[in-house]
Amino acid sequence: MLHIRSLAAIFGQMKIYSKNDLMKLAIEEHLKCSEFPRVGAVIAKNGILLSTGYRGEIQGVHAERVAIEKLSPTDLYDSSIYTTLEPCVTIQQEQNKECCADLIIKSGIREAVIGVLDPNGTIYSQGYRALLQNKISVSFFNRKLRMAVEEETFEFGDLHKLIGPGKRRIPVIHSGTDLEVQFSQSDTRTIKIKWSTLQSSHRIVDLHSENGAVRVASGATNFSDITDPMVFRFPSHVARLSEGMIAVVKPRNATFCIIVKLLTIYENDILFQWEMRNDE
Ligand SMILES: [Zn+2]
Repeated sequence: MLHIRSLAAIFGQMKIYSKNDLMKLAIEEHLKCSEFPRVGAVIAKNGILLSTGYRGEIQGVHAERVAIEKLSPTDLYDSSIYTTLEPCVTIQQEQNKECCADLIIKSGIREAVIGVLDPNGTIYSQGYRALLQNKISVSFFNRKLRMAVEEETFEFGDLHKLIGPGKRRIPVIHSGTDLEVQFSQSDTRTIKIKWSTLQSSHRIVDLHSENGAVRVASGATNFSDITDPMVFRFPSHVARLSEGMIAVVKPRNATFCIIVKLLTIYENDILFQWEMRNDE
C-alpha cells in the first residue's frame, strides 16, 4: 500500500511535501480554530499528506485525535504527525478521552514534529517527554514558524496572566518573567509579580513586586498554616525563595493579597502555586 502511494507520488500523481511544508499545513489547520488555544495537526508518510485536524473541527476533540481518527492503523503505521502544540498528557475535562500523547504512542506513529511546548504547567514538556520515552522520534518546528505559532496559539496576554488560584510552570530568563495575577474570572483586581534571577545551581529564585509588598511567610509550609498573611514582618520589594518557601504579596493599595509557594526549581523553569486572600 505504502509502495503504491510512493510510486504514485514519484510519477507526479501525488504531491510530496517537505517537512517545512507540513509544518505550514499544520499552522493552516490551527488558524481554522475559532477558540483558543488554537491547535492544528497533520499526518503524513513519506511526504504524502494523509489527514488533517484542528481543535474544534469535531466538538470537544483535540486536533491530534481528529487527524488520527480519520486514518486506519495501516495508514498510521510509520507515519509522522505535525502538531502546532505539544500533545496533552493529562485527560482534559473538555475531551473526556485518553490524552493525545498516549493516543499517538499507541497509534503506530513513528515521528512527532511539535510547534511549541505547552506553557500550562501540568503539561509543559511532559508530552514531549512521554513521546521520547516511548521511542517516538520528536523534533520541533523551525524557529520562525515556532514564533508564528506562539503568537497565534493563545489569546493575547494569556501567558502572562494568572486568573484565580492555581499552579503554573514558567520559564525564568535573564530579565525576569512578569505576571499579572487576577483575583478571579469575575473579579478583575490584579497584583503584579515578577520572577527573576533564577539560580538553579543554588536552588534559589527571586520573587518581586512593588516596594514593601513582599514578605516571606517564615515558618509556614502550607497555605493552610497562614491564618493572617499580614502577621509576617520585614516587607520588601523582593523575596529570595528556595523550594517549599512561601511568600505573601500585597502592594500598598491592593485590597487582597496573594500567597505564593515555590514548589520546584528546574534548570530554566520554576513550578509555583498561588492563592488569593481578601482583606479581612
Ligand atoms: Zn490533546
